[in-house]
Amino acid sequence: MRYISTRGDRTERRFCEILLEGLAPDGGLYLPVAYPQVDDATLSRWRGLSYAELAFEILSLFIDDIPAKDLRSIVQRTYTAEVFGTPEITPLKPLEPGLALQALSNGPTLAFKDMAMQLLGQLFEYELGRRGEQLNILGATSGDTGSAAEYAMRGKQGVHVFMLSPQGRMSPFQQAQMFSLQDANIHNIAVEGVFDDCQDIVKAVSNDLDFKRKYKIGTVNSINWARLLAQVVYYFAGYLYATKGNAEKVSFTVPSGNFGNVCAGHVARMMGLPIEKLVVATNENDVLDEFFRSGVYRPRGTADTHETSSPSMDISKASNFERFVFDLLGRDGARVKALFGQAGGFALDADEKARIAGFGFVSGSSTHADRLATIRACYRQYGQLIDTHTADGLKVALQWREPGVTMLVLETALPAKFAATIREALDIEPPRPAGLEHIEALPKRVTQMPVDTAAIKAFIAAHV
Ligand SMILES: *Cc1c(COP(=O)(O)O)cnc(C)c1O
Repeated sequence: MRYISTRGDRTERRFCEILLEGLAPDGGLYLPVAYPQVDDATLSRWRGLSYAELAFEILSLFIDDIPAKDLRSIVQRTYTAEVFGTPEITPLKPLEPGLALQALSNGPTLAFKDMAMQLLGQLFEYELGRRGEQLNILGATSGDTGSAAEYAMRGKQGVHVFMLSPQGRMSPFQQAQMFSLQDANIHNIAVEGVFDDCQDIVKAVSNDLDFKRKYKIGTVNSINWARLLAQVVYYFAGYLYATKGNAEKVSFTVPSGNFGNVCAGHVARMMGLPIEKLVVATNENDVLDEFFRSGVYRPRGTADTHETSSPSMDISKASNFERFVFDLLGRDGARVKALFGQAGGFALDADEKARIAGFGFVSGSSTHADRLATIRACYRQYGQLIDTHTADGLKVALQWREPGVTMLVLETALPAKFAATIREALDIEPPRPAGLEHIEALPKRVTQMPVDTAAIKAFIAAHV
C-alpha cells in the first residue's frame, strides 16, 4: 500500500516513510491510494481471532514494508491483557438489547488514546532501531495526549519525550499520571503559563529548522496516519463482538474532537465493514455538528472555544477532518486545497452537501446539563458509571437508534479521570483501577520553567 496527500501531491510514499511524519510536504494529510476491500468471507474468517491477530490482519493490508513476522510480534507485544485489562482488549458493555458501550479506555492512561499510542511506541522503536536513528518528541498537552504519549514511549530505545504542560492547570490526577514516571527518556516540563504558551513554544522550536534537524525533533499529534490506522482495528472488533453473522449492520457513536477517532470508523466503512451510521457527537464546541447539519465548516478562534466538562473534546478546528472531506469530494486534491486554504472555513455547495448521507455520517451535540443527566440516567437505568465524554456520546446516540441496528457507543475515558463531574452528577466517588489509588502521593519528576523558548531549547540540548 502507498500513501498520497489530500492536497494534490500524488507522490506515492510507503508506510514507514510517513510513520514518523505529520503533514505531507504540501500541507495535506496522508491517506492510502485506495482502501483495501474486505469481503464477507474475510470477515467470517476474522470472527474468533484474538484482538492482536485481528490487528495483524488489518494492519497487513496497509503496511507492506515491515516483514510479517516483525509486524505480528509488534502487535502481539502491544495488545495484551496485561496492558489493556481484558483478553478482548475493547470489550462490549451491554446496556440493553441493541445498545452497548465499547470500552476503549482500559489502557495505562484510562483513555482511548492508548489504543493507538501504545502501537505507535512499538512501531517507533522498531523503525528507529532499523534506521539507527534517534527521535526527540516535543509536545504540548493539557491532559490526555501527553500522558498517552509518555506511557507509550517510556523506556523505548531511540526516543526521548519532552512534554510541556501548563503549570498547575491539569487535574491532580493527570499531573500525577505524567509526573510520576521515572523513566530517563521522559521529560516533563511544567511551563509557567497557559496551554497556548506551551503550544507557541512547540511551534517556535519546530519552526527553527536548524535546531529541529540537529536535535531530531518530531511530534506524535493526532494527524499521524499510523495512529489513525491503529484505531481502525477496534471498529472491526466492535462489529465482530456485537454480531453473529455478516448480514447484520451496526452503528457507532463517537465522542469527537479532532475527528481522529471517527475518521478511523470512516476508513473501516470504506473498507466494506457493514456500518450503518457513524454518529459524530460533540460537546458545546460543535464545529463538527454544525458541519454535518449544514455543510458549513467554521473553525473557531481561541476566544470562541469553550472550556467544558468534557475537556478532551474542546477543540476549535478538527485536524483530521480534511481526510474525510478529501473522500467526500471524490479525492479532488485541488478542491480540498482551495477549501482548506480559505481563512475562516468554507461552505460546501448543494451537490457536495448531498453526498454526506452516502458516507453514513450524522451528528449531534450536548451541554454540561445533558452530560449530568446522561451520567445519572445511565447509572440508574443500566448500573454503568460513564465519564463525561462517553456521556456526550450516549446522549447523541439515543437520538439516532434505528430498529434492527445495534448501536455501539465508544467509551473514550474512564470516569475516574473526571471525578469532579461524577461527584456533581451522582455525589459518588468514581472507582479507580487497581494500583492507581494513591498515585498523587508518588514522587514526581518534573522541571518547572518560564515561558522562554530559548531556555527550553537549552533544556532539550542538555538532555538528548
Ligand atoms: C481525544 C479524546 C476525544 C476526541 O477524540 P478525537 O479523535 O480527537 O475526535 C474524546 N474523548 C476523549 C476522552 C479523548 O481523550
